[in-house]
Amino acid sequence: MNIPTVADVLAARKAIAGTARRTPLITSALSEQVEQDICLKLETLQPTGAFKLRGATNAIAALSDEQKANGVVCCSTGNHGRAVAFAAKQLGVRATVCLSKLVPMVKVKGIEALGAEVVRIGDSQDDAGAEAERLVKEKGMTNIHPFDDRNVIAGQGTIALELLEERPDLDTLIVPLSGGGLISGIALAAKAIKPDIRIVGVSMDRGAAMAASLVAGKPIEVEEVASLADSLGGGIGLHNRYTFPICRELVDEVRLLTEQEIYTGMQALYGMDQLVAEGASAVGHAAILSGKVQITGPTALIITGRNVDMQQFSAVIAGDAVKLGDVIVSGKDKVAVDA
Ligand SMILES: *Cc1c(COP(=O)(O)O)cnc(C)c1O
Repeated sequence: MNIPTVADVLAARKAIAGTARRTPLITSALSEQVEQDICLKLETLQPTGAFKLRGATNAIAALSDEQKANGVVCCSTGNHGRAVAFAAKQLGVRATVCLSKLVPMVKVKGIEALGAEVVRIGDSQDDAGAEAERLVKEKGMTNIHPFDDRNVIAGQGTIALELLEERPDLDTLIVPLSGGGLISGIALAAKAIKPDIRIVGVSMDRGAAMAASLVAGKPIEVEEVASLADSLGGGIGLHNRYTFPICRELVDEVRLLTEQEIYTGMQALYGMDQLVAEGASAVGHAAILSGKVQITGPTALIITGRNVDMQQFSAVIAGDAVKLGDVIVSGKDKVAVDA
């Protein structure tokens, strides 16, 4: 198996310059509370509103002319699809994006606006993935995988280069974790530069496929359910090639959060740092405020994306109740309700 290296990440930085931007690193208001430097890497400021533009651009740029001519396809919880649509447009490549019905409308519209063809299919990320595979076989398109792809991982890893150039003293990186492309790229680049840096992955506690797979010692499937962190949904693939072995080797801790904790994290991200962002972006705040991650030195949180459903966001900020499958969360005490 050909695991990407920091050399691939350095090459990716050149390939994505001009499409994905270098994002700011700002100080969080959490710093005062925990009496330690907490900084926020604002991937929300990418042109597509999420870090996934880095990996998608690197992967599409690496295609042969023949592959480019046949077009690209992907499945996505939303942000990867938008990134593929954006990068494909810039490079003059046709793109088809397969989305399950769990993907919020705001993300569907964003992808269509970029000129990509959208296919809405099934009730899970796996269903969307199966459709993408079908289009590869039927039309000879190239599948740009949302995380289990060397070039995607290397692209996401460019975040770590920027972080450690700006703050070589960082002790811990707290990274939202789903399929693991982001944390794999970050971990392999960061640990090549600074071997003792601590890498912490954070997911929701319902449907966290990578966390469950790490415990099981092999990729396993979990049921996908509605979450405030909708971008963290989806499996890691039973035939996972890269992100599972990289996470097993390089991720130091994985922490799981309740929906109520993510809700509180979203309120803090907005209330303390005035950032409008997705639930997936608020898991760092949630992990610190819940005490599930101990702060041991200067820490960076990756604020991964801003493509939030505004109605849901407004409800969270107002402290109103939000229903996610069989769980209801609100600004007051947690109310757990059976279906
Ligand atoms: C995709 C995504 C993640 C998780 O990235 P993985 O590479 O799948 O682990 C986190 N936050 C946002 C906003 C995303 O779009």
